[in-house]
Amino acid sequence: MPKYVDNTMLGAFKRCPRQYYFRHIRHWVPDTRALPLSFGLAWHEALHTAWSLASQGQPKHEVLGAALAAFLKCWREEGLPTEDELEPTEVREKLGVRRPGVAAEMLHAYLEARWEHMQRWRVLGIERPFIVPIWPPSGADGRVRPPFYVGRIDLLVEDDQGEVLIIEHKTTTQYARTTGFRQSYIESFNPNAQVDGYLYAVNLLLNRPVRQLWVDAALVHDRERHFKFIPCSRREHALEEWLWSLRYWVDQLEREEERGWHPPAGSPIMYGWARNDQHCFSCLYRDPCTAMLNPEERDEPPLGFRQEAWDPLEINRIRVEEESDA
Ligand code: SF4
Repeated sequence: MPKYVDNTMLGAFKRCPRQYYFRHIRHWVPDTRALPLSFGLAWHEALHTAWSLASQGQPKHEVLGAALAAFLKCWREEGLPTEDELEPTEVREKLGVRRPGVAAEMLHAYLEARWEHMQRWRVLGIERPFIVPIWPPSGADGRVRPPFYVGRIDLLVEDDQGEVLIIEHKTTTQYARTTGFRQSYIESFNPNAQVDGYLYAVNLLLNRPVRQLWVDAALVHDRERHFKFIPCSRREHALEEWLWSLRYWVDQLEREEERGWHPPAGSPIMYGWARNDQHCFSCLYRDPCTAMLNPEERDEPPLGFRQEAWDPLEINRIRVEEESDA
């Protein structure tokens, strides 16, 4: 069992144990990262820069320039081209709506929409990591046993009434003409394990009641610019209920890992990490999953995959991997 679990790992296990096996036991990842993930990562980098500089009193035009530079730096690090490096006919085909030109317009509109909040709210933390216990202390020495629940908060602020808010930046293409965002997207944050988990963690970290997480949603669209705070609040016992569920899933995961599930040599099937075929449609592991009844027989990643361990403490910043709406 790993020492740390995060929302991404538990989400994979809940979705499909076989998917968890591919990603977190075998450490197989697709050779190329999907464009929505790279765009989401670059957007996060841009907003972290924007909120940080705005909280230091920088003027809006400088904040915009630095945020755009942060976006482009991350974009290039992802190995992606900008529009002027492509033929005009290639731009839409290769980048679609998620391209730097759209991001630049979004950033401009975002600062117009959020500048007042950036001036009013006190920033308590940006990209703040957390490691909190899942189990209560036990035994004679009162030690807390692993795994610990870990993550990284995009933004922690105190509003004008002194209330602490967790802000999570998200991008989506789920456009609706009426409100800018599809209702199903807005409703996807309740219930939502990440919202509950982050509230649980911040309550422990600050040792004071924090009841609200606001999703800072940004629409990615060719022409439309929409931003929306989606407030998510949890009642007093909701986090207790979430913790109970978390322990249930961690317990299931521990049992699955302890069993080992190593089939006898030559076995045609794996006898473990059950498939959940309800989530195959958008699964990255569809090809290896259908091609291999017993992936234990294979040492190397299959064609189109490489090996890269998920370290929730190091790599948590790219948790957008599991949250993209693509
Ligand atoms: S293709 Fe389906 S069964 Fe296989 S790992 Fe993905 S979600 Fe699970």
